[in-house]
Amino acid sequence: EKIQAGLAEEGKVVFSFEFFPPKTDDGVDNLFERMDRMVAHNPAFCDITWGAGGSTADLTLDIANRMQNIICVESMMHLTCTNMPVDKIDHALSTIKSNGLQNVLALRGDPPHGQDKFVQIQGGFACALDLVKHIRAQYGDYFGITVAGYPEAHPDVIGSNGVASLEAYHNDLAYLKRKVEAGADLIITQLFYDTDIFLKFVDDCRKIGITCPIVPGIMPINNYKGFIRMTGFCKTKIPAEVSAALEPIKDNEEAVRAYGIHLGTEMCKKILAHGIRTVHLYTLNMEKSALAILMNLGLIEETKISRPLPWRRPANVFRV
Ligand code: FAD
Repeated sequence: EKIQAGLAEEGKVVFSFEFFPPKTDDGVDNLFERMDRMVAHNPAFCDITWGAGGSTADLTLDIANRMQNIICVESMMHLTCTNMPVDKIDHALSTIKSNGLQNVLALRGDPPHGQDKFVQIQGGFACALDLVKHIRAQYGDYFGITVAGYPEAHPDVIGSNGVASLEAYHNDLAYLKRKVEAGADLIITQLFYDTDIFLKFVDDCRKIGITCPIVPGIMPINNYKGFIRMTGFCKTKIPAEVSAALEPIKDNEEAVRAYGIHLGTEMCKKILAHGIRTVHLYTLNMEKSALAILMNLGLIEETKISRPLPWRRPANVFRV
């Protein structure tokens, strides 16, 4: 079913996990084992990323199908549309449709490595809005469509001072509203570490008439270098207290991870206290921090849960 259905239950707090396609076969096997353990905790959905320009297309499609039909969790596939021929996009959509997936995260994508700007391929799409329109035109209401939202505005318009101008921020919001009006049902946000920025973003969206659920994307800090790389790439604001807490422990991986769990827990507590009923965890394919945060929030049990058998469906459900 569409993932927004699982988010709609009155009063219930739900969570979800994002994964990315590993580079090796062993990595894929490990991911499925981990996913299996994580799904036992009953996430509302799980999603799998799409390499820019279709670089992981076959693997992403395969993982998405196995998530839905073997791991048996409501699954969403990311799909980027730039540097992607339309027939490749349609192949991806029709493949997941025939495998029973009903959820797509419709994205523009970033330019390929080594390029600053993406080049629109002939007959191809220029932005996520084009993809949302295409999916609605071709597939009607079959898919639940999610789009990306940027609490600090998209990095393209964040200046050297680390913030977007007020005008750029409001243009970004207006564009987000167009994606929703074109058919998106749900917004998942880019990662952030300043919870007030996220809460203001939600308020600002509501003020301009965006009414769909807005799901906060939470990336637990797992290691210092990765955190600096990711926040640099996304131009994410690092609050002063986070820098101050990390600076003295940055070479101690264990301490950084423990702080990441603490910070993630506090961020989620504050978000949930403001009436938001969902948390989306960017797991980076790791389970410990994500599960520790959910445990701290009382959303999952500490004891190992085993799912009632039989829950595995036969492997021959695929139609590619
Ligand atoms: P768009 O929504 O098309 O636009 C990005 C920004 O450009 C807008 O916010 C707006 O400011 C401006 N803009 C674009 N078109 C217009 C227009 N017509 N008019 C006015 N303004 C416009 N990347 C991957 O490669 N694979 C993934 O799986 C992936 N998953 C992601 C998941 C989430 C939740 C998020 C937040 C990002 C993800 N990304 C992924 C990164 C994403 O592809 C990049 O951030 C990309 O630069 C923008 O994608 P978008 O869909 O937000 O773009």
